[in-house]
Amino acid sequence: MRERFIRFMQGRYGGDQFGNFIVIVALVLLVIAFFIPSYLVKNIFHGIVVLLLIYTYVRMFSKNHEKYARQNQRYLKYCGKIKRVILKKKENAAQRKTHRIFRCPNCRQAIRVPKGKGKIAILCPRCDTEFIRRS
Ligand SMILES: [Zn+2]
Repeated sequence: MRERFIRFMQGRYGGDQFGNFIVIVALVLLVIAFFIPSYLVKNIFHGIVVLLLIYTYVRMFSKNHEKYARQNQRYLKYCGKIKRVILKKKENAAQRKTHRIFRCPNCRQAIRVPKGKGKIAILCPRCDTEFIRRS
């Protein structure tokens, strides 16, 4: 039995990160469906969950490695982008406590200056325009 299963899985794509992601989405939809009072909407959600799970099995048992590996790469690339955006937002939030960002009135360049220094003259590094702001 075990051997037959191993032989069956030979050359098949198997699991990957995107596959795991689809399963998580399906589980989340299942939990949301649990709280939906309308039977019609609940059934639509259940239908989507079943389709998603069928799709993960199709991917797992497929012998078209190239297609699903490419799909997974796209997914990982997208995850990386989202992670970078979140990281940038966190950095900006941390900086807002100690710094202020001003825009150059001439060229719109963003310039970061330390907070709480009173009125200061800011020199734009891009176009050399000087302007006064309270930091
Ligand atoms: Zn400027």
